[in-house]
Amino acid sequence: MNIEQIFKNNQEWIQSKINTDSSYFSNLSKGQTPDILYIGCADSRVSAEELMGVAPGDVFVHRNIANMVPNTDLNVMSVIEYAVMHLKVNNIVVCGHYFCGGVKAAMQSQDLGILNPWLRNIRDVYRTHKDELNAIDDEEEKYKRLVELNVEEQCINVIKTAAVQRAYRDRKINIHGWVFDIHSGKLVDLKIDFKRILDDVMEIYHLD
Ligand SMILES: [Zn+2]
Repeated sequence: MNIEQIFKNNQEWIQSKINTDSSYFSNLSKGQTPDILYIGCADSRVSAEELMGVAPGDVFVHRNIANMVPNTDLNVMSVIEYAVMHLKVNNIVVCGHYFCGGVKAAMQSQDLGILNPWLRNIRDVYRTHKDELNAIDDEEEKYKRLVELNVEEQCINVIKTAAVQRAYRDRKINIHGWVFDIHSGKLVDLKIDFKRILDDVMEIYHLD
């Protein structure tokens, strides 16, 4: 893929949109009212909109290495605050994916420089669930399970944010933990028991 090709593609895309709806871009410029915040991995194979089959304007998207929600990361915290308090989204998705390079790196002990503190958040997930993970003999199964547990823990981090805690007071926000299976293309809902998690989290993290 060369850079010039991208601009040619863009021209074709503009034309195809205008062909089906001549006011497509003027409507798009009026503003956004997405109902979903999607937090996913920056992996080039996991393109958020395409795998969900959604159009521009449908989903507010944030992507970083291994779909993390660290409470000290100003970037993801600002995204959540803006999506919940200003866009008023009612759904927040954390979507991980099998064969995630970030999760794989966190399972190894290689020194990766500035990535170390980022990946340490995933190592903390491993530590939290080490009994379950260490009981899995098959390395690939263990890797897949850590991807799932990481999604669950990042969903909990979403719930712990002040924005979501505040929003829970006057509306129902649904949190979803998903995994994209690169091998089959399938989007899997992990069906995380948020009711139970929420009760535990609220006891400790609720804000007055
Ligand atoms: Zn990834």
